[in-house]
Amino acid sequence: MADEEKLDAIVVGAGPAGTAAAYTMARAGLQVALIERGVKPGSKNVMGGIFYPHYLELVVGDAWREAPLERPIIEEQRWMMTDQAAIRLLGYKNLRNREHPHSFSVLRARFDAWFAGKAEEVGALLIPETVVEELILRDGRVIGVRTGREGDLYADVVVVCEGIGLGSRLLEKAGLKPPLKPNQAAMAVKEVIALDPAVIESRFNCEPGEGASIECYGSATMGLSGFMFIYTNRDTISVGGGALLSELCDTRLSREELARRTPNSILNHFKSHPAIRPLLQGGETVEYLAKMIPEGGYRGIPRLYGDGYLVCGDAAGLSNPVHREGSNLAMESGRIAGEVVIHAKEKGDFSARSLREYKMRLDRSWIMADMRKYDRAVPLLEHNPRMLGTYPGLLDRALDEFFRVDGVSKWDKQSKIFRMLRKEGGVRMLWDTLKAGWTLARPLHR
Ligand SMILES: Cc1cc2nc3c(=O)[nH]c(=O)nc-3n(C[C@H](O)[C@H](O)[C@H](O)COP(=O)(O)OP(=O)(O)OC[C@H]3O[C@@H](n4cnc5c(N)ncnc54)[C@H](O)[C@@H]3O)c2cc1C
Repeated sequence: MADEEKLDAIVVGAGPAGTAAAYTMARAGLQVALIERGVKPGSKNVMGGIFYPHYLELVVGDAWREAPLERPIIEEQRWMMTDQAAIRLLGYKNLRNREHPHSFSVLRARFDAWFAGKAEEVGALLIPETVVEELILRDGRVIGVRTGREGDLYADVVVVCEGIGLGSRLLEKAGLKPPLKPNQAAMAVKEVIALDPAVIESRFNCEPGEGASIECYGSATMGLSGFMFIYTNRDTISVGGGALLSELCDTRLSREELARRTPNSILNHFKSHPAIRPLLQGGETVEYLAKMIPEGGYRGIPRLYGDGYLVCGDAAGLSNPVHREGSNLAMESGRIAGEVVIHAKEKGDFSARSLREYKMRLDRSWIMADMRKYDRAVPLLEHNPRMLGTYPGLLDRALDEFFRVDGVSKWDKQSKIFRMLRKEGGVRMLWDTLKAGWTLARPLHR
C-alpha cells in the first residue's frame, strides 16, 4: 500500500484492548485495520478468566448480552494453603449477582472471536494470521507497520495492543519501551478441564448455570509471589496460576530448585493438593496454555503515546493482579484510545502533542487511580517467604490446635497457641499483616 493510500488507523492485536479500540474508531467511520497474528482472534490468547462486562457494554452497548460468556460468578472464595490444609480466608456468596451479575467466567478463544466479529460489523477490517514484525518509523514518527503476509501498511496512527510476552516486542524493538524486568511480569499457565455441568455444580455448590471462583495462595504456588485459581465454565473448569518471573528465575537458586519452580510444576503441585484433587477428579484436560501477566505497577508503565502511536492494555502495563483485573483495563484503555484518535482525526493532528490527550484521560480515570493504589502490592510479596510460607504454616498449626478435640482443656489450648505464636514470630506476623493491609488500603497519590 502506498503512503497516500494510508488508513486512518492500524491496531496491532485483536485482544480486548485492540478490538475495543478498533470497534470505537470504526463505528465513528474511520478506516481501521485490526491485525492479529492468530488464525483467528483468541486462538493465541489466555486468561483465567473472570470477565467484567460493564467495560464491554461501554464499547458495544446492549450487544454485550450476546457475548459468549460462560457462567455468572455468584461466589468468590480465597484460600490460604499449606501442604496439609486449606484455610478459607473468604467465602462470599452474593445472591444479588443472580439478578445483577458483574463478572462472568470466560474462554477467550470464544470471546475474542465474537468481539472482533462485532468490530467487523461496524466496519473494521480484520486481518488475521498476520504478524506485525515491526513498526515503521520515519523521522521519529510511527507511520505504519511491516507485516509478514500483507507487506507494509501505513496509517495516521498505530494503536499498539500487542499484550506482553516473548512474541510481543514491537515497542521494545522500536526503542519505544524498555525491556521488561523480571519483577515486572508473572508467568502463568492454565489448563481447561472438561467436566459434566452437573458435576461442576455439585462440586462447587452452584445452582444450574451459576459459577464460582476459587483463588489460592501460600503453598498453592509453593510459597512464591502469585496465586492459583479455579474458575467454573459451562462444561469445563479453568485451573491455573503463576508467579513472578523474578522468583521463577531467581539466579541465586540452585539448578535443581529452579527446575522445581517452573509454572508447570507449580500447576501440578496445586492440582495434586488434597483439597484440590477431588474438585478436578475425572476431568479431562482439553487445553493447556501459558502466558505472561504485567505486574510492574504504576511505576512500570511505559510511555503511552508518541508521534503517530498509542499503547493500550497489557502492552501498556495496565493490570491489577490484586483484584485479578486486566481485561477490563485493556478494554477501557482501548476505548479511550479510540476516542482520542477520533478527536485527533477531527483536528487532523496525530502528533505526540495531540495524542497526549490519551494519557491525560487515563490519568483522570479509575485506571490510573487503581494503578497508583496498588503500585506497591507486588514488591510487598516478592521474595517474601514469611507472608506466603511461614505465616500460613503458623496459622494452620494454631487452628489445628484450636479445633482439635483431644482431652486438653480450652485454657491449655489457648495458652499453648499463644506460646507458640510468641515463640515463632506471631507478633511479627500481626505487624506484617497490618503493614500489608495498610499498604494495599491506603490511598496513594490521589
Ligand atoms: C493466566 C491468566 C489469567 C488471567 N486472568 C484474568 C482474569 O481473571 N480477569 C482479567 O480481567 N484479566 C485476567 N488476565 C489478564 C488479561 O488476560 C489481560 O489483561 C488482557 O488479555 C489484556 O488484553 P490486551 O488486549 O491488552 O492483550 P492480549 O489479550 O494479550 O491481546 C494481544 C493480542 O495481540 C496479538 N499480537 C501480539 N503481538 C502481535 C503481532 N506482532 N502481530 C499481530 N498480533 C499480535 C496477540 O495474538 C493477542 O491476540 C489473566 C491473564 C493470564 C495470563
